Amino acid sequence: FLPEKTVGITGASQPPLDINRVRADFPILQEHVNGRRLIWLDNAATTQKPRAVIDRISSFYEHENSNIHRAAHELAARATDAYEGAREKVRSFLNASSVNEIIFVRGATEAINLVAKSWGEQFLQAGDEIILSHLEHHANIVPWQQLANKKGLLIKVIPVDDDGQIILAEYQKLLSPKTKLVSFTQVSNALGTVTPAQQIVDLAHQAGARVLVDGAQAVSHMRADMQRLNCDWYVFSGHKVFGPTGIGVLYGKEALLNETQPWQGGGNMIKDVTFEHTQYHAAPGRFEAGTGNIADAVGLGAAIDYVNHIGIDVIYQYEHYLLAYATQLLKDVPGLRLIGTAPDKTSVLSFVFKDFTTEQVGAALNQEGIAVRSGHHCAQPILRRFGVESTVRPSLAFYNSCADIDTLVNTLLRLRRSRI
Ligand code: PLP
Repeated sequence: FLPEKTVGITGASQPPLDINRVRADFPILQEHVNGRRLIWLDNAATTQKPRAVIDRISSFYEHENSNIHRAAHELAARATDAYEGAREKVRSFLNASSVNEIIFVRGATEAINLVAKSWGEQFLQAGDEIILSHLEHHANIVPWQQLANKKGLLIKVIPVDDDGQIILAEYQKLLSPKTKLVSFTQVSNALGTVTPAQQIVDLAHQAGARVLVDGAQAVSHMRADMQRLNCDWYVFSGHKVFGPTGIGVLYGKEALLNETQPWQGGGNMIKDVTFEHTQYHAAPGRFEAGTGNIADAVGLGAAIDYVNHIGIDVIYQYEHYLLAYATQLLKDVPGLRLIGTAPDKTSVLSFVFKDFTTEQVGAALNQEGIAVRSGHHCAQPILRRFGVESTVRPSLAFYNSCADIDTLVNTLLRLRRSRI
């Protein structure tokens, strides 16, 4: 089916996704900006929320709101069931072996900081080495740098080729008995590159290192499978997978979580406290000190239900169709340089536009109701690898259509004509 008129043909056939029905599930997509229909192409920064998620959060506050775990009353039981039910939905979404491996945190950033400040503080020593990739978001650089400065660790960086792909042979050269941790992104937020996660994990383990995978840009686009990937930790943010802000997930292998001392102390995470000594709960409780973001965890559960309802494999297929369509049209826009041309990508496009700053392009697109990010995307090292400080980054989700891309491309063509 072709829901809306398209200006370019890629030859790829569209997978079975009823785009008009999907779009109707997202109230914000009916918004107008500058008198134009909103075209949301800033999905790598955050995704929009389906009605099911918005309603689930309202319903929690209307019918279930209570603190969890500690009271004898009915609402505490409802809230606890809802919260723990969401944990099970996350477990199943990630194919983790146990709910004890799922820790609710604020987001990917907090999850990485948790690992750095608990496991890293406890187990890393001066002279140990950490390997990151050149593609990392600042959230997967800064916490390790802070730890390295404090403890005298060495950070090494896996280089990328001119398409923005990890160079595996160079990675292998960096691994040594000194490597204690490899921490890398499954998908680059700035370029969309999909990294060879399975190979990176397996090689790290062969070298005796632990591995953290940053799934912040992956989980909304492709199937995540912890039992198969076999990483030690995996992190993601709820808001990038159609769920609320302020909630995210740290997956960790159960035995590893239980041998790691908690980073924050307080209520909920203890078995017993005296003024002399505290006994901690096993995971996940030991890493969930204080009252967490209960309602938004429940909202994340609803987002996962929604993604399952559409089908992550359908999403993958549809977005690849859109990506091919957008790439082909953008390539033909005069003066546009695409950055990040790996064959294995998710639906993130990054470009610079001759004669215009990225801010000017972003502002011109906004005039047409199109939301894109322009800037460094919290990934300065990888942009500098390509000789730029900033790019324009349209990033697609399954509720985008070919018509959205047509409007983007037509606006860029108009801008180009204005300078000829
Ligand atoms: N990692 C990657 C690859 C990201 O793209 C982001 C956000 O853009 C993060 C980590 C941090 O996510 P958050 O700001 O939700 O904690």
